[in-house]
Amino acid sequence: MKTRQFILFVIILFVLFSCSKVTNNLKVPSQKINNVVIIQNINLVDMTSDKIIKGHSVFIKGDKIIEIKPTESIKIPENSKMINGEGGYLMPGLSDMHIHTNKDWNNWPVSPLRLYLANGVTTIRCLGPKGGDQKYALRWREKISKGQLIGPTIYASGPIIYGPVQDPERTVNKNIDAGFDFIKLYSFLSQNEFQKIMTMAKQKGVYTVGHIPFQVGLDGVVSNGIDEIAHIEELAWEFVHFNKQLKIKGYKWIPYVIKMAFQQYQAAYSNLSIVDLEKKLARSLSSVADKVKTADLPVDTTLYIDDVIVEKLFEPNTFISKPINKYLPGSYINRFKQKKEKHQIQFKGGEDFAIFKRNLDRLIFNYLKRQKVFLVLGTDSGTGAMGIVPGYSIHEELRILTESGYSPFEAIKTGTVNAAMIVDKMNGKGNFGTIEKGKRADLILIKNNPLENVSNIKNIVGVMASGRWYDKAMLKKLIEL
Ligand SMILES: [Zn+2]
Repeated sequence: MKTRQFILFVIILFVLFSCSKVTNNLKVPSQKINNVVIIQNINLVDMTSDKIIKGHSVFIKGDKIIEIKPTESIKIPENSKMINGEGGYLMPGLSDMHIHTNKDWNNWPVSPLRLYLANGVTTIRCLGPKGGDQKYALRWREKISKGQLIGPTIYASGPIIYGPVQDPERTVNKNIDAGFDFIKLYSFLSQNEFQKIMTMAKQKGVYTVGHIPFQVGLDGVVSNGIDEIAHIEELAWEFVHFNKQLKIKGYKWIPYVIKMAFQQYQAAYSNLSIVDLEKKLARSLSSVADKVKTADLPVDTTLYIDDVIVEKLFEPNTFISKPINKYLPGSYINRFKQKKEKHQIQFKGGEDFAIFKRNLDRLIFNYLKRQKVFLVLGTDSGTGAMGIVPGYSIHEELRILTESGYSPFEAIKTGTVNAAMIVDKMNGKGNFGTIEKGKRADLILIKNNPLENVSNIKNIVGVMASGRWYDKAMLKKLIEL
């Protein structure tokens, strides 16, 4: 073999080897369409109410729940597979309703598709793919549903609509034709663009999720009938005074609005405790929450990012040494170490503002909670640019919701029942989120009662995703490095 050929051979071997490392050869669990799987002897947390139903068994066929019965009364069909729940708790799988797929997921230490499943996240919704041809979420979804790839059920928007938008009809049609479930609108759209896109989306019956564009504001998105707001933090801009008519475009809006926010924060709020901050802002907080409630507008939570930002800025060593952060892409960790990571740059010189923002977002949550605004669980995971570990982040988000005043039942509802209701509005496929006959078999088996403490959900015994069962050993293998 000539030297050049030999080198080529070594390179090919290397590529093959490194590929097999990231997609280790675990098989998708089988799903025999005629066989029944019975999860026996469990306490049912079906999420139709906050009651626990003791001593039940759940029957699954294909990807559906077909029967729920008291364990002592069940007859076991031939060829059925038994899973002993051993008196554990069976709850619906969780949804992370605000994530971003990234073309590089296959090159992460472990694919986020697996990180989600291993953490009980059986549904993800992509609010704008990052990189590549941007249709990979649709391809992955296809493969997952055929049992060719391990992962949760995926819903997805097309590429984020940043503007400028030349032809609103074409923009909306492109999303529909490609098979995306909804469109995602971004902060930089002008009033005119936003209005035209919204009109077109309504005409075509397309569901719309968005940031609140700086030039449009909350009143504007409400009057144009947006279907959902992508973050609680989007409402924080309502507390900043800035010139909506300013003639700037695209990304230039971000430093401008942040600068205005910094200035106003320093002048008025920098020494205030969260209690005093609430006193000062009470009227505006009520007014914002009222508007959202009156418009019946669902909002995605994404509160955990505030904790991550504060940790990255003030305790970088704690952040970097967190065991779960080994799942973040190496390129991200390098950027962080070089202090070139997204929030290190955005908050440079104004680090205290991150603490203010966290307090403000928590206050907004509080007022949305009081007004019983419809919230949807989301963590903004998956981009690979913010230091949020997919799957693990859902448990942090649930923790924050309960620490901020939600009961465990209310918190879990945002990522189960509410998530399914949103998907139903989006594309009519919201047949999940509770444990009921006919629902998609997305389930988490855990040792202890999740309605006592949401952190009990972390202690997972098994996960069923669309009828495919992953036991504890398999879940461990899924995320092995
Ligand atoms: Zn996002």
